[in-house]
Amino acid sequence: MTDVTVALRMIQDRISTATVNSGRESTDIRLVAVSKTHSTAAIRQVLAAGVLEFGENYLQEATQKIQNLRGTAAIWHFIGRIQSNKTQSIAGLFDWVQTVDRVRIAGRLNKHRDSGLRPLNVCIQIRLSPDPTRPGADPDTVAGLAEAIEAMPRLRLRGLMCMPPLENDPAQTAAHFETTRAVYDGLKRDGHELDTLSMGTTNDLEAAIAAGSTLVRVGTAIFGPRQNNQGA
Ligand SMILES: *Cc1c(COP(=O)(O)O)cnc(C)c1O
Repeated sequence: MTDVTVALRMIQDRISTATVNSGRESTDIRLVAVSKTHSTAAIRQVLAAGVLEFGENYLQEATQKIQNLRGTAAIWHFIGRIQSNKTQSIAGLFDWVQTVDRVRIAGRLNKHRDSGLRPLNVCIQIRLSPDPTRPGADPDTVAGLAEAIEAMPRLRLRGLMCMPPLENDPAQTAAHFETTRAVYDGLKRDGHELDTLSMGTTNDLEAAIAAGSTLVRVGTAIFGPRQNNQGA
């Protein structure tokens, strides 16, 4: 077995143990392999091992890899900060955008999503930190943003995404996940048809799954430490 196969087996074991420990079905969780800074060749190995979904944070770096992997079964999630002058490229290249946090960005993605492509899957990134420089929508604005996105024909709202501050201690991270879950449940109770709660990374996927995550975004545990050559 290659290193990648071993790493994937370990992460899949962690996911299924966490899922079973939370009293959930192990098929409830999807795995997005976060490939930022890793090469097309590394992504090909993960694809060959049967993981089809990849997350990328930087448009320029992702563009090359997505082009290199045209014709494969790879599904691409944009999980980085969205600059408004990049929305056209993002809407053309990706299958999912998980980091929508304001109506103006959603509107631009909707406008640029080609009618020949399926609607772009979208998650609203929620910001629970009071620090306004951090990305994400304030919880008070999430319901309005969800309604705005649902009125956009080229977007399909799937759910919420959160990324707790890296410096958080485990108790704070768990609280962050629980709050996100509560906002998600509230939206569903109000009639929004959502199926995706994107939370959990290499360090905290157990806590995220315990809080109800349906999608984990795992980089380091699959690909190893990030490379600094942001290679294609
Ligand atoms: C880099 C990144 C991840 C993956 O983090 P790891 O600790 O490498 O698993 C997940 N989500 C987002 C938004 C990221 O930027």
